[in-house]
Amino acid sequence: MSNLETKPPEVLAGDETGDDAPTGFELLTPRDVPLGGPRAMEVRRTLPQRARSLIGAWCFVDHYGPDAVARTNGMNVPPHPHTGLQTVSWLFAGEIEHRDSTGAHAMVRPGELNLMTAGSGIQHSEVSTTETTVLHGAQLWVALPDTSRHIAPFFEHYAPTPITFEGATVSVFIGAFLGEASPATMFTPLLGAQIDLPANTTVRFPIDPAFEHGVLLDSGMLRADDHSIPADNLAYFAPGRHELVLESGDEPVRALLIGGEPLGEQIVMWWNFIGRTHEEIVEYRERWQNEVVAGETSAGRYGTVLGYDGAPLPAPVMPGIRLRPRE
Ligand code: MN
Repeated sequence: MSNLETKPPEVLAGDETGDDAPTGFELLTPRDVPLGGPRAMEVRRTLPQRARSLIGAWCFVDHYGPDAVARTNGMNVPPHPHTGLQTVSWLFAGEIEHRDSTGAHAMVRPGELNLMTAGSGIQHSEVSTTETTVLHGAQLWVALPDTSRHIAPFFEHYAPTPITFEGATVSVFIGAFLGEASPATMFTPLLGAQIDLPANTTVRFPIDPAFEHGVLLDSGMLRADDHSIPADNLAYFAPGRHELVLESGDEPVRALLIGGEPLGEQIVMWWNFIGRTHEEIVEYRERWQNEVVAGETSAGRYGTVLGYDGAPLPAPVMPGIRLRPRE
């Protein structure tokens, strides 16, 4: 996924949890962002936003579909760069063909994690396949901590076996939860899982009190710790909790649970880049424009994507101000 906003907001995120009481609850409502093109599909973005930039190291949540591909043409995101982050692709329906500059060529399929660690720089393309009639899923980004953000890029795939817990079905794709552990490489303590509840079911999930958590509701009616969660919202829970109570209504619930220890670092996030300073982001952008968009070299910071039929995605113009924190 690429951040295709023409004027992407700058984010300099600090330790935001300091303002929240341990029992803090926030409702993060989505905004619709087009992925580009004349009849383009839209995604619902719940992170980052003005009220919150991070949940643990999770720094970006795009949720989309169910999308009739015949109407929207599905997803066709040309090669674009990333730095300083990991992309987590998770589908409920459909199929996406992923190609990146490490040479990885993989299909993103429902219930299977595709994890791309950008490190010092990578580029990738994402295209829904011609067999896909309905596209439905999420893409999330994880900010790499300062000690790991300059590593070489790599790609991983993992298909978790769903487990059952008190009537819920849970697929743990990042971190450890309910005794299940994902082998996916993480650089800070994190959790990512799909939770499915049958109708009219209440489940008390034990959670790590050192983590802050987010619950993204995909379908059904959900109460989380006695808060009613509107469809497509991301509910935030501050650290200090030992359990999270999820309760479904008259329809089954599908949700994503994310969590992690507060990152405790300041990051600068603009377009598809994460860095630590304005100057770093300027350099990331210039090298993308010069080395790839202008075609100066195939051996630069972002390497080359093979097999995509089309031109790379140019970066937007940077705002005329230094990237700095939003108030
Ligand atoms: Mn991307």
